[in-house]
Amino acid sequence: MVETKISGGVLLVEDNPADRELARISIQAARLPGPVRHAECIEQALDLIKQAAPEVVLLDLGLPDSTGLEGILTISRTVPTVPIVVLSGQEDETLAVQAVESGAQDYLVKGDYTPKLLARVICYAAERKRVEQQLLYTARYDAITGLVNRSWFLGLLEHALNRARRDRRSLAVLFMDLDHFKNINDSLGHAAGDMLLKQVGERLHFCSRVSDVVARLGGDEFTLLLENLDFPESARIVAHKVISAMQPKFTIAGVDVVITPSIGIAFFPDAGEDAETLIKHADTAMYRAKAKGRNTVEFFTDDMNLAVRENFELECALHHALKNRELEVHYQPIIDRLSNRITVVEALLRWRRPAADSRDGVQIMPSDHFIPALERTGLIHETGAWVLKEACANCRNWQRRFNPELRVSVNVSPRQLANTGFTKRVQSILAATELDPASLEIEITEQVLMEKSQTNVSVLTELRELGVSIAIDDFGAGYSSLGYLINFPFDTVKLDKSFIEQLPAREDSRLITSGMLSIARGLGRRVVAEGVETAFQYEFLTEHQCSAFQGFLFSRPLPAGELEKLLCDSDVARMQFAGR
Ligand code: C2E
Ligand code: MG
Ligand code: MG
Repeated sequence: MVETKISGGVLLVEDNPADRELARISIQAARLPGPVRHAECIEQALDLIKQAAPEVVLLDLGLPDSTGLEGILTISRTVPTVPIVVLSGQEDETLAVQAVESGAQDYLVKGDYTPKLLARVICYAAERKRVEQQLLYTARYDAITGLVNRSWFLGLLEHALNRARRDRRSLAVLFMDLDHFKNINDSLGHAAGDMLLKQVGERLHFCSRVSDVVARLGGDEFTLLLENLDFPESARIVAHKVISAMQPKFTIAGVDVVITPSIGIAFFPDAGEDAETLIKHADTAMYRAKAKGRNTVEFFTDDMNLAVRENFELECALHHALKNRELEVHYQPIIDRLSNRITVVEALLRWRRPAADSRDGVQIMPSDHFIPALERTGLIHETGAWVLKEACANCRNWQRRFNPELRVSVNVSPRQLANTGFTKRVQSILAATELDPASLEIEITEQVLMEKSQTNVSVLTELRELGVSIAIDDFGAGYSSLGYLINFPFDTVKLDKSFIEQLPAREDSRLITSGMLSIARGLGRRVVAEGVETAFQYEFLTEHQCSAFQGFLFSRPLPAGELEKLLCDSDVARMQFAGR
């Protein structure tokens, strides 16, 4: 493409003096603005266009240096923004269509047009070209940032890959995603989100070279194409430049906003041979950067690919598992300190996964092997609702048969809680299974509390208003903060097994556990100790008046049928657990 200044006017490309004179008279009579210049061949026409682009090119198809449609192709490739009207010696409809398909805007037969018609044709040709350019722009550039969009980026990357293959050079794709961008949209609104994307685009553009391509793929995802790199390290330098460029505060609608990027880099040819693979691998590396704590850069490596493939296979197998009813719920007893009885059972999901070799039978998969995959795929909503229903129905059945006071606790992931209508779903499951809301406890992790979202608090409050109790699970495993315990509506705190496991040997664990127990008592909350495995732990916890115990010392999580044997004779339970 040639950068030219626009002089307007008409460029007449015609080698026959008689035809040229005829055209010139018509152009003058049509009173078209701007100068009329003329060229006798394509080469000369291109020289004139380079000096200044005309408003329109009137082009003869039989020239000394080009015949037929060739001239149209050469001019439209060199200056795609200038409209071309063909002046042909033949009245040939097929040729007229071919001319338009090759890039001309219209077709006139010599001697067969009036000045008025010529003026109209030129005017329409210019208008059509403007619309065509506009459409082309929309098809290639992103409306918010003005950067190259996904499909054009793919096209440019394909071209760059061809050049890199030919010249045996390397290139890199940088994939950048903004950390916690969703929070900006949620708190300041989508218009503010768009403004931020625009400013991010400007800063990215600023830290790139003229030859780099900067694109917005969609959402808060940006890519950079870096060509002719000699060392992978050069790409890292650019990535760190981008991170520094994002550091100063953004001001969006009068509000100061801080945002950090996570960047993944994929190198050609090491990380992939084609455009799609390179982008995918740069994206994978970006996820690794996020997992490493955000605001950082990662190169794609083959082991990432393996992890991605394994996750993908796991996700496919889970879809299959749901259809084939391979999931089941196991129950682990929770023993009350005062009564020494099973007062609560915790529902824990298990996957009866057929082994790769069918002769090996099935493998029981513990939940933490596959729950993250259920969450990634969104299958957690369907599965979680099923677990809840299964657990409530079984609990009601056991209340009728063994112990009317029995309660069930069910784990709920942050994603389930954030899903609209969660409380309603719980309510309808309770109604369908005829379980009293007071017999259900929902276990949430500290992560839900850390997000501090108003939605989470209101869902928890709704559930408690319904009569359902809330337990904070694995307390102490994450960023345990006593602040959460004071500010959030909950009934039970479950001390993580990592604390219990150090008891009573480590003094700090003893101090923390006894401190936690007295704080929880002061707040009037129940405390359940998780992972109780030894009699020493049990004794220490009993001395410090822990409300209830869960762990292998009493029972592993059991299938419903086996749990029933424990529930069936409460005296057995009493004998079994008393006096340990
Ligand atoms: P969690 O809710 O803290 O569940 C307790 C975990 O500790 C269970 O692991 C259980 O088998 C294990 N455990 C119990 N007693 C002992 C003990 O004495 N020693 C040791 N070392 N471990 C013990 P599991 O079943 O693998 O579950 C892992 C986590 O997966 C659960 O932790 C829970 O957060 C999640 N999970 C389980 N089922 C569900 C479910 O239906 N939905 C959701 N969203 N999450 C679930
Ligand atoms: Mg739990
Ligand atoms: Mg737990």
